[in-house]
Amino acid sequence: MTDQKKFLLSENDIPKQWYNVQADLQKPLDPALHPGTGEPAGPDDFAPLFPMDLIMQEVSQDRWIDIPDPIREMYRMWRPTPLIRATKLEKALGTPAKIFYKYEGVSPVGSHKPNTAIAQAYYNKIEGTKQIVTETGAGQWGSALAFACSQFGLDSKIFMVSASYDQKPYRKSMMQTWGGSVTSSPSTETESGKKILENDPKSPGSLGIAISEAVEVAAGNDDTKYALGSVLNHVLMHQTVIGQEAILQMEKADAYPDIIIGCAGGGSNLAGISFPFIPDKLRGKNTRLIAVEPAASPSLTKGKFTYDFGDAIGMTPLLKMYTLGHTFIPNPIHAGGLRYHGMAPLISALFEAGIYEARAYHQNACFESAVLFAKTEGIIPAPEPTHAIKAAIDEALSCKKTGEEKNILFHLCGHGHLDLSAYDSYFSGNMIDYALPSESIEEAMQSVPKV
Ligand SMILES: *Cc1c(COP(=O)(O)O)cnc(C)c1O
Repeated sequence: MTDQKKFLLSENDIPKQWYNVQADLQKPLDPALHPGTGEPAGPDDFAPLFPMDLIMQEVSQDRWIDIPDPIREMYRMWRPTPLIRATKLEKALGTPAKIFYKYEGVSPVGSHKPNTAIAQAYYNKIEGTKQIVTETGAGQWGSALAFACSQFGLDSKIFMVSASYDQKPYRKSMMQTWGGSVTSSPSTETESGKKILENDPKSPGSLGIAISEAVEVAAGNDDTKYALGSVLNHVLMHQTVIGQEAILQMEKADAYPDIIIGCAGGGSNLAGISFPFIPDKLRGKNTRLIAVEPAASPSLTKGKFTYDFGDAIGMTPLLKMYTLGHTFIPNPIHAGGLRYHGMAPLISALFEAGIYEARAYHQNACFESAVLFAKTEGIIPAPEPTHAIKAAIDEALSCKKTGEEKNILFHLCGHGHLDLSAYDSYFSGNMIDYALPSESIEEAMQSVPKV
């Protein structure tokens, strides 16, 4: 008998509750602050943008929150997702470690993002929202939201950063297939967009500008709300279905993880795989939790833990988080989902408390690891989780040196079928490892408001 490869669950094993790590923090999170007054922001400040159920989840201290049946029903389309042992990668590395990965690329959009998109669309639906508006960079979040809205009979409107709108036509086609209305940002549909275009008619756009456009549309229309794909507490909580399934699957494999690894952009996929293991860690389990960032956007490893805006323009509430400064614009690495100046307040607080460790890698080394992974395990990863793969391989190789038989669990949060141009760039030798952006971080840190 060879070792078991896949650890699968039945639909009955789809979690019935989300895990809210806020209940297990040593001290509560610092509150979000109103961008104008600098005072703690209350539920009413968020009401124009989000449905009340999500606002209450954002601040809830309850350890478990029931997942409504209609959401579990939707999750059944692709959940539970498989947990796979990377036996062939282990062999290629010659490591005594066991490597496991939880694979979220089996969702309709090819990533973990619909776990929260479905939940957000549901709470909007029951509160009477007709349309959800959002922004998307590379298009992963926009696709997830368009898919979720189509399932609940809601309209979706997506402001897509102009540069990606031109470079990533297939993501746009996906959103349109699910009925999403996609607008290149900056656009003439909003005052924020017009202002940018007046100054720079050929503006390539940015996530910050697209957020401003989406928020303006949501704030100006009663039947329209806004949605965010990462960073916020409720978004991270929705992703905990991933780690809860992984706990059951690692039990089936008779292997408790010694190391859990995820890439970290805004923090949601890392939270999803790792938060459900935190109660055990607090009770004394010696599991290491590792966040992996791109060297081009190193918020945990090079940023500061302080209040900052969530967007580039300074319209959103202030969040206490690790940040590189809200005006920081990361170099154009291929892992578009990791190009964010901040980190989720929950991941930031847990990193500050020593629960997480963090490291940063350059993109060529990550793609080298991803190609080895694809050649052995078969799956072609999205550019973002190549960072987690690189860390898993490094840990497995240090086990090879010491002879330790550790259990390593990493999160393969998406496939790369729509990102093959990144692989082209790697194979042709044109992929750039940008120098550590120390000067631009210093400059952007000047933009962090004094609170
Ligand atoms: C959006 C995205 C990310 C980055 O966001 P997190 O909130 O850090 O998870 C990473 N990987 C994939 C596949 C994504 O779609």
